[in-house]
Amino acid sequence: MRPLLIAFLATILFISCDPSSVLNESSKAEVYSGKRPKNIILMVGDGMGLTQITAGYYRNGEKLNLEKFPVIGIHKPYSANDLITDSAAGATAFSAGKKTFNKAIGMDKDSAFVKTILEEAMKQGLATGLVATSTIVHATPAAFVAHVDDRYKYEDIAKFFLLNPVDYFVGGGKQYFEQREDGLNLLPMLEEKGYDLSDYEKEPFREAVVDFDKKFGYFTAESDPLKYEEGRDYLVPASKQAPLFLKRKSEKGFFLMIEGSQIDWGGHDNDSEYIISEMIDFDNGIGAIMDFAEEDGETLVIVTADHETGGYAINKGSTRDTIIGRFTSDQHTAQLIPVFAYGPGAELFSGIYENTAIYYKMKTLFGF
Ligand code: MG
Ligand code: ZN
Repeated sequence: MRPLLIAFLATILFISCDPSSVLNESSKAEVYSGKRPKNIILMVGDGMGLTQITAGYYRNGEKLNLEKFPVIGIHKPYSANDLITDSAAGATAFSAGKKTFNKAIGMDKDSAFVKTILEEAMKQGLATGLVATSTIVHATPAAFVAHVDDRYKYEDIAKFFLLNPVDYFVGGGKQYFEQREDGLNLLPMLEEKGYDLSDYEKEPFREAVVDFDKKFGYFTAESDPLKYEEGRDYLVPASKQAPLFLKRKSEKGFFLMIEGSQIDWGGHDNDSEYIISEMIDFDNGIGAIMDFAEEDGETLVIVTADHETGGYAINKGSTRDTIIGRFTSDQHTAQLIPVFAYGPGAELFSGIYENTAIYYKMKTLFGF
């Protein structure tokens, strides 16, 4: 009897101490009676902690588009199995409101599929879009359309674009659709789903002609897109184009996720200059989105990060020019993360809350 009793008590203790189950429940309770947004644009700066923002701010001449946001909150980024989240669990918290294990995409901590905000939007007849400066099958965009237990199953993730054919996508990773181990070529299959596809080999992004009667997909690279420093230049034009395209696609509204993916990679490389250039590019994308949202008046814009990367700190420098960065890690850290909100419903984003609450707030505001 005794070992059984101990096992039983241990189970009870484990269940009652699981912070994610308790906090997920509390973060679901959102009451809102104000004006609802028709469109939501979620912008994720991967690895963008407060120091990354600070470094970009000083290098950019002491200004960022982020300063235009009237509401600022803070989220708690830990995952279901680790104080330090990865981008898969971090993005699944935003996309589906579940704390899950690191590496999980669109699944809860028990490996059950969880419906994402993008899938719900699609089901409700809203237009949907994804833009990333990584591959389009990388963890952050993947968590909105795919359900896999391992973020590195890129070919499996690519297949989910057939199941969830978003109206607009721009990102790298053409190889995972075309040069696959299973021998399938998903590109003609996507065309059958109504896509007008283009890529970096055919034409630069800026010159791609967009057919508004079709879905639009553009591959910016075979694998990972270039660094901004190396000439990648599509984040700002895609941030201008995507909301206009999606607005014409559905009169019910749209959900768009845009990721500045490589701020994180600069952190992993412990490369201050890489972080700063990616941060400024992302902020310029934010500026393009803010121009749309200010004119539109029915769009909620949320900017946040999944986690901080590098344990980055500025120990020396001058406000106008030199930023001397130091790092405590080449991995992610546990820092609490800022959230910026603008537009109808933005006030829900003030305060300190779980990363999963961002999903519930978006869901409440969409009225799903
Ligand atoms: Mg990412
Ligand atoms: Zn990372």
